[in-house]
Amino acid sequence: MATVAASPGHAYGLDEARVRLREVFGFDDFRGSQSQVIARVLAGESTLAVMPTGAGKSLTYQLPATMLSGTCVVVSPLIALMHDQLRAARANGIAAATLTSADSDWRETIEAFRSGALDLLYVAPERASQPGFRDLLSSARLALFAIDEAHCVSEWGHDFRPDYRQLRPLMDAFPHVPRLALTATADAHTRADVLAQLGIPDDGLIVAGFDRPNIRYAIRHRDNAVRQIADLMRSQPGPGIVYAQTRAKVEQIADKLGAATGREVRPYHAGLDPAMRAGNQAAFVESEDMVIVATIAFGMGIDKPDVRFVAHAGVPKSIEAYYQETGRAGRDGDPAQAVMLWGAEDFARGRQRLAEVPEERRASERTRLDALAGLVETAGCRRAVLLRHFGEDPPASCGNCDNCIEAPGVTDATELAQKLLSAAYRTGQSFGFGHLQKVLTGSSDERVVQRGHDRLSVFGIVGADDARLLQPLARALQARGALVATEHGGLQLGGDAKAILTGGQKVEIGVPPARERSRGRRGGNADNPVGDPLFEALRDLRREIAREAGVPPYVVFHDATLREMASARPATLSALGALPGVGAKKLETYGPRFLALLAG
Ligand code: ADP
Ligand code: ZN
Repeated sequence: MATVAASPGHAYGLDEARVRLREVFGFDDFRGSQSQVIARVLAGESTLAVMPTGAGKSLTYQLPATMLSGTCVVVSPLIALMHDQLRAARANGIAAATLTSADSDWRETIEAFRSGALDLLYVAPERASQPGFRDLLSSARLALFAIDEAHCVSEWGHDFRPDYRQLRPLMDAFPHVPRLALTATADAHTRADVLAQLGIPDDGLIVAGFDRPNIRYAIRHRDNAVRQIADLMRSQPGPGIVYAQTRAKVEQIADKLGAATGREVRPYHAGLDPAMRAGNQAAFVESEDMVIVATIAFGMGIDKPDVRFVAHAGVPKSIEAYYQETGRAGRDGDPAQAVMLWGAEDFARGRQRLAEVPEERRASERTRLDALAGLVETAGCRRAVLLRHFGEDPPASCGNCDNCIEAPGVTDATELAQKLLSAAYRTGQSFGFGHLQKVLTGSSDERVVQRGHDRLSVFGIVGADDARLLQPLARALQARGALVATEHGGLQLGGDAKAILTGGQKVEIGVPPARERSRGRRGGNADNPVGDPLFEALRDLRREIAREAGVPPYVVFHDATLREMASARPATLSALGALPGVGAKKLETYGPRFLALLAG
């Protein structure tokens, strides 16, 4: 796309940007903080934008890149990400190129860059430290430096990349070129560090809200992970990611889910043959309904916007990790689901590991586990817990999480908790839940009698009504650390057990609705008129075009655009061009074929 040369002294404003947004991307307005960020970029100010996944970070430099004269140099940590972005940018008619070890068209790219023909030039951070690169940059006109995944510059972040440290000296050589750093994950500490490391003034920080309203959160106790996830898959068409903790579990769950649902399910973990792993990832990116079962290694390099669900077969590492992993669902803004399955053993393992953690890190590790336990155990709004964790002040109820949709009953289980903790204490803190349950309910089991536990004051003090609460209560106490499983499976008192026993601390537990009624409930993208012959025909055409062009279907059009097409049935190019997601370039390239289909 030819860059509109700015007349000297002319600065673009948001109105022009909005026109451009419609023209290039086919979108009617900016989302969230995009306009704020873009206004700064157009004004030549440096910015660090912290925006959640799916907020539309790439547009905040891609759009200005098509307006400003000169090239926007984008630093991105992963080649796969760059190539994703490249395809999407080119489909919108933006002149973009990558300069990576995986490219063979270097000469053309450099020529195009020097001649000013490129809007976007994507490079890996290693480039920045190479001697010739500064000279190359000096030989062209630069509009902007965009630094993607900017938390990689900070050692506080979780993905520190030493090469990112070379960016500052490189950019300092071009003091008049504004900088735009982007990240989805940065706590206050990391943010300050990123600002300093990249030479962005403190007032250039823009932090968008963390909420992802189109993601529906649900957290359930794990009875049988395969059955529960298979149920989810039956009610939820479209691509999905299942996270499992170990390679063995990944393989096992992938096999069983495939067999149970008949859908295409593939594994992804670091132990797979590299060609197979890459193949599975590529197939997932292209697919419209595949499910990938993966260790957390998966997802970092993936920008797939149409992921309809993310399921966790076990408790993630932290709330931050949970948020990042679930954030891979529904980037396209369509409804998506995040379902976590948890078991007391997930927490037991975590609490056991605390003992091995160096003293100075133990407190923060414990806080991390407690925060997860709070999320899992809450009978209130999940989203509110998440957003409060990130320092926001959300409404008490979101209407789009399991607890808001179907409130669990909340029971004061303080007295029962005291009984359970006493039983653990009086039996010597070396028996597992099963044994304690027998003692409390007065079962004259052989082992109970042999140990003389039938003579304890806690024997048989729990009646039938309360007995059914013992299991969820034990889980809750383990999650919060008041009961800690030892290596040998015994339950010990820990955390606030003492406060509970002395009445200083109340215990409330959520009682799950009688039966899981999720089955058959509206799936995450039931808005898609699946089964509508016109919608299906549009999808078929999209698939055909994508195959011809060698891009994933979502690069051609998102589902939302096809939905609009199916309901508005435009008959002319201009009517088609007015639909969301149809920019000038896509209208020109794909418009006639879609119109022909709509007319037929
Ligand atoms: P991020 O990098 O922040 O996760 P992306 O840049 O991948 O997000 O954008 C996520 C999706 O949102 C993309 O498919 C993009 O086309 C879409 N998008 C971005 N901005 C807008 C907007 N203003 N209106 C509608 N859709 C948008
Ligand atoms: Zn809620």
